[in-house]
Amino acid sequence: MRRKLAAGNWKMNGTTSALSELDALARAFPSPTIDILICPPATLLHRAAETVRETGIATGGQDCHAAPSGAHTGDISADMLVDAGANAVILGHSERREDHGEQNETVRAKARAAMDAGLKAIICVGESLEQREAANTLDIIGGQLSGSIPDQSTGENLIVAYEPIWAIGTGKVPTLEEIGEVHDFIRNRLERRFGEGVGRSVRLLYGGSVKPNNAADIFAVSNVDGALVGGASLKAQDFSGIIVALQKA
Ligand code: PEP
Repeated sequence: MRRKLAAGNWKMNGTTSALSELDALARAFPSPTIDILICPPATLLHRAAETVRETGIATGGQDCHAAPSGAHTGDISADMLVDAGANAVILGHSERREDHGEQNETVRAKARAAMDAGLKAIICVGESLEQREAANTLDIIGGQLSGSIPDQSTGENLIVAYEPIWAIGTGKVPTLEEIGEVHDFIRNRLERRFGEGVGRSVRLLYGGSVKPNNAADIFAVSNVDGALVGGASLKAQDFSGIIVALQKA
């Protein structure tokens, strides 16, 4: 059985006052029956981890460098994330791929470093609107999966997030059939590459404008094991609605 996961990506949002949202979340779910993960900006990570220590909520990073240390001004290594209290890291988010020109090989190297450090790597894949309209979605996703996911992946250290770029922060969501088609495709690809045991144990998240009012429908789709949530993870009240929907799914 794959344990369901509600993961929040705060992106470049939040200063000290945002920790009160985490506190509220921890109080709302004293013993969650699903995994809950919040990935705050790096400046808040350690304090966020302290805020939710000994609760059922985990914390993660939003990126890491592929190297363990060295002359990489402004970057953060996987070990540093662990040291700050992370147990997971988001990698290959479309905003990193677009804003920082990250290619699949870079994402794969970062994922290797993350896994070696004991982190769960949440590897993001997803097509642009242009690619969807040209009926290239599955080709694009297939290439991102084979290029970004390292060979050492297991059901424990790998989570895949399907995030159509055009659905992120736009309020647009694919149809449930479209989500199901991509998630079934990803599951199939993972089973073919890693064998049925590992392939079936990797959790698959959907991300892109998940809100309390559409979460239950999305969580009912086959091979959707949870969500990667941006905007609606910033407020405990909104994220709580998504968590409740996932707990019931
Ligand atoms: C994201 O950034 O990963 C995301 C899914 O954002 P939003 O929920 O705001 O669309």
